[in-house]
Amino acid sequence: MIKSETVKTLALTPQFPELKKLVPFCSSEDVDLVRVISDYIDSCQPKVCGRCSPCRIGMVRIQNLLHHMVRHESIEGDLERMIELASYVEEASLCPLGKGFPTPLLTCYKLFPDEFKGLTASLGHVA
Ligand code: SF4
Repeated sequence: MIKSETVKTLALTPQFPELKKLVPFCSSEDVDLVRVISDYIDSCQPKVCGRCSPCRIGMVRIQNLLHHMVRHESIEGDLERMIELASYVEEASLCPLGKGFPTPLLTCYKLFPDEFKGLTASLGHVA
């Protein structure tokens, strides 16, 4: 859990403009960042038009991996797979929408890696 004020403060810095997308989700004092990101990716899914495979397939895989993570059902290597996949979707998607979908996930992982690692390690499946 991280303080919502931390996210809000970082969102105001020019280095992390992507975090502004998370501020509306930060209503409580403590933020379950992985759940917030999972909900965010869920909200992106209806906007995937399906024209290109990196976004169409990648976003579903990322969504599934996040759902497993939130339910403490991750297996070894899931975290690395998800981050690698998110980087690929960001790089290879056809349009700016698809390229932007994984950016909050990648930014949050960069800033708060322990939030993700804590979940994947909680059942002894250290990623
Ligand atoms: S990247 Fe753009 S074109 Fe490709 S599936 Fe996603 S929304 Fe459609």
